Amino acid sequence: MLQLEIDLLMKDLQWLKQRLIELDGYGYGDYRSIRGHYGFTDASSAFNLSLNYVQRDPFAAPSLVCLQVSQKVAGFPVRWITEYAAQTAIADYLTRQVAQVAQSLQKERGSGKSGQIKIAAPSQAVIRRTAIWINSNGIEARLTVGLPALGRRIAGKAAATLLCDSIPQIVSRCLRYSALDAAEMERYIQTFQDAEALRHQLAQRGLVAFIPEGACLPRRSGVDERPLASGAVFIPPSEKVKLQTPHSGEIKGLGIKAGVTLIVGGGYHGKSTLLKAIEQGIYNHVPGDGRDRTVSHPDTIKLRAEDGRSVSGVDISPLINRLPGDRSSRSFSTANASGSTSQAAGLIEAIEAGAKVLLIDEDTAATNFMIRDRNMQALISKDKEPITPFIDKVRQLYDDYGISTILVMGGSGDYFSVADTVIAMENYQPRIVTEQAKAIAQADPNQRRSEGGENFIKSGSPLAARAILPDSLPPQKDGRSPKIKALKDKMILGYEEIDLRAVEQIVEVHQVKAIAQAIVYAQRHYFDAKKPLSEVLDCVMEDIAKGGLDALDEDERRWGDLAMFRRFELAAAINRLRTLKTASISYICATETAYR
Ligand code: ADP
Ligand code: MG
Repeated sequence: MLQLEIDLLMKDLQWLKQRLIELDGYGYGDYRSIRGHYGFTDASSAFNLSLNYVQRDPFAAPSLVCLQVSQKVAGFPVRWITEYAAQTAIADYLTRQVAQVAQSLQKERGSGKSGQIKIAAPSQAVIRRTAIWINSNGIEARLTVGLPALGRRIAGKAAATLLCDSIPQIVSRCLRYSALDAAEMERYIQTFQDAEALRHQLAQRGLVAFIPEGACLPRRSGVDERPLASGAVFIPPSEKVKLQTPHSGEIKGLGIKAGVTLIVGGGYHGKSTLLKAIEQGIYNHVPGDGRDRTVSHPDTIKLRAEDGRSVSGVDISPLINRLPGDRSSRSFSTANASGSTSQAAGLIEAIEAGAKVLLIDEDTAATNFMIRDRNMQALISKDKEPITPFIDKVRQLYDDYGISTILVMGGSGDYFSVADTVIAMENYQPRIVTEQAKAIAQADPNQRRSEGGENFIKSGSPLAARAILPDSLPPQKDGRSPKIKALKDKMILGYEEIDLRAVEQIVEVHQVKAIAQAIVYAQRHYFDAKKPLSEVLDCVMEDIAKGGLDALDEDERRWGDLAMFRRFELAAAINRLRTLKTASISYICATETAYR
């Protein structure tokens, strides 16, 4: 974690300025001579500036600049910087402030990326990132800066202005308590702490999600995560749940109970919007987001069909059996999964990673995975259909493993009989209609036959755990990590591309970058063809919990563009690696208690 050393022998910014002016007109490569640490002090301020990485040319990835300010100078209240939640919220807040000021300070100062000043841009989620660290020692901000060039020569004067005049403004305008809006910061922290408190109460109250009165769930557009401009207001049903918050008192809302919940309603009445808000309820959001008190169980996973994905060694036998051509479904591998097999694999992978709540939307589910109605049962006999539909497994998932499901299903009433709760969406508002739905199901004389058997797994055939074969991951030659490139919906690892479009709970490209680093890290330390994947996930997440995201940065590059992710998204990325090979090693979930 942050260690602030003010070295008295350190060169100061004045020296740097002079040096940059001297370098004017030299070849761009000579910028590398300014790598190092610089100290700055005057009557009102003191900070360190480190140039940890200097780009090789003006078009390459920009240079890394790290600013450190001690708390003596920064002066943040102790209670904010010692408590984990407040620390997370305040670091996120500062990241947003720096992003704004950096934007205003940057201007084109030559060719390529000359003059660029950036900090990892946050989404609407408030999460831990490496862009800003804050603790009782001080603050560290990690920026990327494009060192100015004219053609391929050093633009020394522009560089001196950029590094020695503009960048220090970030310190004076963003990294000092006295320069910031204290009330706004307080609100930021309180919103975060309220959301944490709500999420903590879910389990005690037998809930898996909570949507408060007055929330605004819809987003501005499919590509704009901000709340709908017209400000929709969520009105909970009459059966309200009341939860307590430390800063806003009692809050009423819709509480979704553990078990099987069905969301029904006409098309375009807000079903998917509700499910999406629950899906994102694993994160806390910035004040004013509209979902800032909408929370869900931290181990909630969105499950969907994803035809075309690859699958390696997953035991999908509880859901799909007797594949044509005698293909094994106990250890199912394919380079090109179908809708149903991809969804079945996704479900088993979710159990393996430790999911507690599954979310499924009819819009992105494979119909044959979800339902098989009475007429179809009559026409195609069970021995000709490899799939046991989810409808016959969803209850067992809860009864055997304690895994709840929230399902959007507007097109089939078959699920009425297996649901604990039915919520109807009408004009974007929920109504509890469990009793009506149950009565309809019971009155139906032609009920379908269940095909699911007694338990989620057949007795005597527990799910196999998988170990990752380390050689199937992109090679690390001489301990050097493969080339990593992160985009919002895919990552490139060496020569391999991992498609993350279907991993909907990834919200920032910085998470993708961190997950890529985590895969490399896991390959170095834990994947050994013997350890179950779930255990490797435990180990990696534990190392991050202890050492922060910098634990993944073994080359000490001090990346400022990593953001926190969950074990589930790490597992999802590993599972989608097309070269992945796995070995079945022992048996997991042998007993009901193993996964409770
Ligand atoms: P469904 O899944 O029931 O078909 P959606 O959840 O996709 O419906 O919602 C349909 C549209 O209505 C979306 O464009 C969504 O953004 C919008 N919408 C959702 N909730 C509200 C609301 N409370 N007020 C206004 N528009 C909403
Ligand atoms: Mg929908």
